[in-house]
This record gives sequence, structure tokens and C-alpha cells, in this order.
Amino acid sequence: MRIIIDGQRMPLQARVSKDILSMLKSMSKMLGWGIFYDAAKEVVYINSKSSSPPTPIPDRQTTAEPIESTRLLGKTVCIDPGHGGSDSGAVGPTGTMEKDNTLAISLLLRDRLEKNGATVLVTRDTDKDVSYANSSADEELGARVDIANESAADIFVSIHNDAFTNPSAAGTTTFHYGDAESARLAGHVQKCLIDELGTRDRGSRFASFYVIRYTDMPAILVEVAFISNPEEELLLASVDGRYKAAESIFAGIVKFFKV
Ligand SMILES: [Zn+2]
Repeated sequence: MRIIIDGQRMPLQARVSKDILSMLKSMSKMLGWGIFYDAAKEVVYINSKSSSPPTPIPDRQTTAEPIESTRLLGKTVCIDPGHGGSDSGAVGPTGTMEKDNTLAISLLLRDRLEKNGATVLVTRDTDKDVSYANSSADEELGARVDIANESAADIFVSIHNDAFTNPSAAGTTTFHYGDAESARLAGHVQKCLIDELGTRDRGSRFASFYVIRYTDMPAILVEVAFISNPEEELLLASVDGRYKAAESIFAGIVKFFKV
């Protein structure tokens, strides 16, 4: 949850909490401050100058400058938000869906990469099947690989959430298909994720998933955290958790390119 007072973002990170929210609301009422809570973005806007509710600031302005650097100029990254459309992916204990988490993280990651000069392709940028509505799992995976290979991207990053029948299973894993460059990319991204999210390190490991096996460029599949674990489900569904995940994958990519 972010708190923005008079257009200034407070340097405070907190999980969304009804207690904090009702405290802020009663405080604002007492002081005659305007308050507006944007539930979808988990942002509290406060206007200390008048009691009228503040107007939310558009997204782009609350994040960063349009251009941060040109260090990824000339690099093309293909991001694959796992699942989508008719395929929800795994579903968390409170009903959150993997396909929503992977899309949100992917779009934040795209934004970071583009702000640093990279060309970014996404296999989907809305909640849809990549090939066509209600396509089979095989067709979906094939369509994702085709987009990557036709784009001649330098790297391919598929983003997923892990799930297991035992809700205590937890942690982060980054998979690669064994070639040296994919393993190096996986190692950087995995380390950055663990450092930033503080999740259990399940390692960067070999796996023979279709999308990392048949893509022509260094390719990884990131299992950010377990959506089946109640605590990690919250992490994956929260704005802060998604920002942190995107930021770490970005940092790992920068390290891979040595820029
Ligand atoms: Zn998945």
C-alpha cells in the first residue's frame, strides 16, 4: 500500500491493512484533510490543504522519469506472462489467479526495461489466450515460442507462479534448459529475486519446459513464489510484491547484459 500526501509519496511500505486505512480515515476527518483510497492500485491519496478528496495522480507520473538510462539500447527482450484468458493458471487459497499476477509483473518489468532503452515484446499484454480463445495448452505454448523466435529477441523470460498441494511449500525458483547463457541469466535473476523478496531460495535449475526448450535465445522460466502458500499468495497479489518481483527480474537482466 502506498500513501501519497499532497502529491508526495511517503517513504513507507506497508501491507494493505484495514486498521491503517481506518486510522488514516479517522485522522483525516479530525484534521479536515481530504482522503481518497484507490483500492485497485492500493494507493491512499491525502490532501492536507483542504477537505476535498484529492485527484489521483496518473500512474506514469507516480513512478519514475520517462527515461532512466539508455544502457539497454539495442537489446530486445521477450517477456511471456504465463497463462491468460481461458487458462487461469494456478489459483490461490483466496481465489487470486496466477494469470493476473504474471501479467501485472510482466507489464511492470516491460516498463522498467523500456525506460532503460530496451525493445520489449510481450506474448500478451491483456488477459487473453496468446493463440486464440480457448486454445489447447500445446497451441498456447507453441504460439509463445513462435513470437519469441520470430522476434529474434536476445533473451526470453517466462513468468509464472508455483503451486503445490501442500500449502506450506514456498520459495522462488528460476529454470533454464541447461545451456551456459540461459544458466547464467537464470542465476542472476534468481539471486536478485531472493535478495529482494526474501523468499526461500529453491535455486536456479535445469528443467525441460516447452517454452525454454524450444526458444532460440537464452531463456528462463521464473516461478516467482507459491500462489498456493497463503503468505506468498499475498505477496504475489500485492502492488508492492509485484513491483519488487519486476524490479528484481530487471536487475538480474541488467547483470546478465553486463551494462
Ligand atoms: Zn504457470
